[in-house]
Amino acid sequence: DHSLARINQTDERIKAFITVDEEGARSQAAKLDAVAGRATDKPLFGLPIGLKDNIVTEGLITTCASQFLRNYNPIYDSTVASKLKDAGTITMGKLNMDEFGMGGSSENSSFHVTRNPWNEAYVAGGSSSGSAAAVAAGQVYFALGTDTGGSIRQPAAYCGVVGLKPTYGLVSRFGVVAFASSFDQVGPITKNVEDAAFALQAIAGYDKSDTTSANVTIPDYSKALDGNVAGLKIAVPREYLGEGVDPQVKEAIQQALKQYESMGAVVEEVSMPHTEYAVATYYLLSSSEASSNLARFDGVRYGVRAENPDNLLDLYLKSRSEGFGPEVKRRIMLGTYALSSGYYDAYYLKAQKVRTLIKQDFDQIFEKYDVVIGPTVPKPAFKVGDYQGDPLTMYMNDICTIPASLSGVPAISIPCGMVDGLPIGMQIIGKAFDESTVLKVAHAFE
Ligand code: GLN
Repeated sequence: DHSLARINQTDERIKAFITVDEEGARSQAAKLDAVAGRATDKPLFGLPIGLKDNIVTEGLITTCASQFLRNYNPIYDSTVASKLKDAGTITMGKLNMDEFGMGGSSENSSFHVTRNPWNEAYVAGGSSSGSAAAVAAGQVYFALGTDTGGSIRQPAAYCGVVGLKPTYGLVSRFGVVAFASSFDQVGPITKNVEDAAFALQAIAGYDKSDTTSANVTIPDYSKALDGNVAGLKIAVPREYLGEGVDPQVKEAIQQALKQYESMGAVVEEVSMPHTEYAVATYYLLSSSEASSNLARFDGVRYGVRAENPDNLLDLYLKSRSEGFGPEVKRRIMLGTYALSSGYYDAYYLKAQKVRTLIKQDFDQIFEKYDVVIGPTVPKPAFKVGDYQGDPLTMYMNDICTIPASLSGVPAISIPCGMVDGLPIGMQIIGKAFDESTVLKVAHAFE
């Protein structure tokens, strides 16, 4: 009741949801009431949550914010959705995003733009826009987002909440609509770090239905939250605080680093020399993967089918022309070009090699340091419409989040101050499968 009331009160302005599932939520709640005596084996018992709308939910329309899937009613649950149900959560509905995850502000959603709860003239970030805004506006206790190049961390930073992108392979992608399969990860957006540990606990773990799922032992994440960072080594890449970073953002990060030093951590400046190639590498590779993944949307198998086609090819062309928005088309064209014969070696293959160099930057740093810290985004949230028609400026905005995505390592964004009434996010990046240290360091700052 509380969550529905809050959604009714605020969502006309915030527009975090694409679908509010009042009936489903009430029926899940009623079922939980019936087993209340056994609540102890359901660690997230009765918590109202929301899911980004690219996370497949049985019997609940899953649109990816695309007109192509506006009528897609899945016949199964993604692994993460079913794990959360088992843990006792109540799904309030599906949250807005940039179409298929492509964007950083929900301005690429084919439904509506989600507003920043701190100031509605500003974007909530993206692509997990609704997930971050719903948590910040108190509509749900936590939400799941997905992160391909920053889509959990950036909106979390803009909305003043916590967003965790786990190590690639830690959380199952089964039933999560693919954007770029070698990058996509599901993770929690929460009000604080402790909640992130609990939410991650519920969704992490091996899944035989996902071929890239990692078979690793899952630790008790909340055990790491002991506030003790003495002796811990923090690397601060100078490339993350260079040109283009808002001076007030820089100042907030430097203050935070001083706080870590006062708690006994060792802070040192380092260089990650391949950072400058990260954005180009990411957009080439992720668009290539997207062009291949999105080939499945042909007007036959899923979603909307164009009317009155002349023949089969015409059915594909019409369905795709009508179903996809302009940014999705741009990525498909870029990706198809980079993968085509004659260009493959110059673009796709070259980008794969640079991806390895960027990963090696991290390998070297993590031989000596426990975590890497910097801003999540170079600037606070921008106004709705500010970057309209300027995709390259939008892409450059991902400079701080993309390196961890290319390397598959875990990273969290936590609030670390305000500029003109808008939150600033600090990013903590860790070693592969060392979410415990990332959470520990994040928690110690709160
Ligand atoms: N902004 C980035 C993009 O548009 C990241 C998106 C994401 O992580 N899903 O590709």
